Amino acid sequence: MSGSLDGRVAVVTGGGSGIGRACALRLAADGAKVGVFDLDGESARAVADEITAAGGTAHGVGVDVTSREQINQGVGEIRGLWGPITILVNSAGRELFKRFLDITDELWNAVHDVNLAGTFRCCQAVAPDMIEAGWGRIVNISSSSAQGGQPFMTAYAASKGGVITFTKSLALELGPNGITVNTIPPGFIITPMTERNAAKGYLGADGLDAVAARTPVRRAGQPEDIAAACSFLCSDEAGYITGQIIGVNGGRNTTSAVF
Ligand code: NAP
Repeated sequence: MSGSLDGRVAVVTGGGSGIGRACALRLAADGAKVGVFDLDGESARAVADEITAAGGTAHGVGVDVTSREQINQGVGEIRGLWGPITILVNSAGRELFKRFLDITDELWNAVHDVNLAGTFRCCQAVAPDMIEAGWGRIVNISSSSAQGGQPFMTAYAASKGGVITFTKSLALELGPNGITVNTIPPGFIITPMTERNAAKGYLGADGLDAVAARTPVRRAGQPEDIAAACSFLCSDEAGYITGQIIGVNGGRNTTSAVF
């Protein structure tokens, strides 16, 4: 495995499943050594094994992005193996479908703690390596729900809106250090999270096929669609792209409330 990211060291959070897994596989295929972080250490290690079996280099670690201690421990492990980390993909996330009036402070805070504060903590943990190297790539996975709004997802969409604004602000601050920071808001990607939500009826009674039929490109997105955009944003070639929102959504109208 070699390519545009040869010699780079990357960390992907939420790398044990769905979009994070696809990004980890893709960055490894591009030549990066990949630290796979996930709340579920077993799935992180399984993805790392998958990468290794395919000829790449990876290491899986159980890391809860709500814990600064666990993040620092995971980052320390990856640095100890391969040196400074100069690519970070924040894909760890949790959803919440709830009527607005039923959202408690505890639920609101729990969603923000993973989606927004988790992204903040991981960026802060690896930014010193990037600043020292004078080169870095950060890709934050937000959500199309933050662009158009989403009923029954106020806490989730607000947390992802925070990720978008955080991304733009961090891009301005770290740009002079050779670091780009961009966000991909996915729209309707088939992952375990989406399948779980469809099974609970959250995508409407007609399910996944009906949503795909309403999508302009007439199919659901795959995690690899996000990974392809992520791979480009992490490359040297994307060095003049920063603070951007790169929608990968099959042309779905991101101002519409339809999921
Ligand atoms: P997924 O398959 O459920 O993957 C999310 C991963 O994040 C899971 O492995 C999950 O671990 C992990 N995670 C959750 N809380 C964590 C924590 N505190 N620390 C570390 N890891 C944690 O879902 P996905 O669809 O790939 O989602 C990836 C990202 O894309 C998320 O940020 C999501 O909000 C965003 N997104 C997805 C879509 C879509 O259509 N799929 C659309 C918009 C945005 P566990 O499984 O152990 O909980």
